[in-house]
Amino acid sequence: MLTSSSGRAVRTETRQNSNFLTRNGPQQQSFIPPPSSSQYLPCHYFDYMTGTSTGGLIAIMLGRLSMTVDECLEAYEKLADFVFGHPRRLHIRRPPFIPRDKYDHKRLEKAIKEIIKQRNSDGHGNTMFRQPNTEMCRTIVIAWHKFNVTGIRVPYLFRSYRHPTSSDGPRDFLERNPDTRYEYKIWQVGRATTAAPTYFKAVKFEEDDEMTEYIDGGFGANNPTEEAYRSIQQLSNNDPQAVKVVVSIGTGKNLETNPSPSAGYKLYYLYINAAAKWAAQSEATHHNMTYNTRGAAEYFRLNVEHGIGKMKLDAWKGTRGSETLALIRTQTEEYLASDEGSMIVSRAAQELVTVRQARSTWQQDPDRWERFCHGVEYACRITPCNQGERRWQRQQLRSHLEECHSTQFNADELENLLEAAKCFPIETEP
Ligand SMILES: [Zn+2]
Repeated sequence: MLTSSSGRAVRTETRQNSNFLTRNGPQQQSFIPPPSSSQYLPCHYFDYMTGTSTGGLIAIMLGRLSMTVDECLEAYEKLADFVFGHPRRLHIRRPPFIPRDKYDHKRLEKAIKEIIKQRNSDGHGNTMFRQPNTEMCRTIVIAWHKFNVTGIRVPYLFRSYRHPTSSDGPRDFLERNPDTRYEYKIWQVGRATTAAPTYFKAVKFEEDDEMTEYIDGGFGANNPTEEAYRSIQQLSNNDPQAVKVVVSIGTGKNLETNPSPSAGYKLYYLYINAAAKWAAQSEATHHNMTYNTRGAAEYFRLNVEHGIGKMKLDAWKGTRGSETLALIRTQTEEYLASDEGSMIVSRAAQELVTVRQARSTWQQDPDRWERFCHGVEYACRITPCNQGERRWQRQQLRSHLEECHSTQFNADELENLLEAAKCFPIETEP
């Protein structure tokens, strides 16, 4: 997770345990719970959440879907059991090596759609990944994109907001897919980031009349922190101060591996025993981030020392994954209770609360908090008004009411009018 100097933040998750103008009426849904400043969610502390693979699903849940941590845990456990609890009997990962993936990707798609449906008042699973109000917490999910002509694979950043090309100068090849015109549904993004070869069938989307292939972002960018950090800085012309706080959550160290990444070929071979390599690559990225954020941002990395770093992507032992979940919980709690773990959590919490408090009491723009938390905007409700379709910030609507409608209400009625003018983001089906 990262927070910028203007109060923007990014959450990073790695593998495994890791409008708004409305469109047509009947298709409108809102993910937004009733406003309550007493209920703080992870997305109220971070400006960005990012993740790769199953960490990408978690970033979607905590960021794009504004879930609480408990809601996210429950949804993830259900999804994992529905998918990893039901491997195919014959598949490519074990003798006699039948050439088909270990899991049925349709089950995964169904499980992701089910999560989205439950967050929708209209109960459909086709909500777009692009968020209706970009002032709210943003989400970046990373997958691996294969170029059709050359076959080269590069990281692809699915963003819930628009990322324009950052400069008019020579193309920055580390600026991933800026100005993309493609729009994806949330479930498609979740599917792309989790499409680990040999586990799930690669996913293909129609772009420019061609089918473009995406696979699990874990291959090469299992720790998405550096990609997301760079992408957010690019939005601010590479201002090193653009991000203020980064909280990165790993999925366990693997102390037996050499932290020198050497991926790039023999994709399927690598995926056979990829857990160690992922752990090593994630640690290498962590070392880069320690250097990149020096003197610029507070960088916190939480990563369990022992026991889960070698866990396979699809580990799911015991009834409904009980053994696997118990191991993850025990090791994580032990790490968090250690001197290192508790010190990092305490310092990170302190920084994040400071950012959150500053945002909610920002004198120059007192309404920014309700925009950030709940996507609140305002519409003129007085009829007739030729600006009735327009959406405003509170102060803008106040000026509009005073300038255009002051004969229709007195000063005492102004605040009531403003309260009645609030609008919340509307999710639309494509
Ligand atoms: Zn008006």
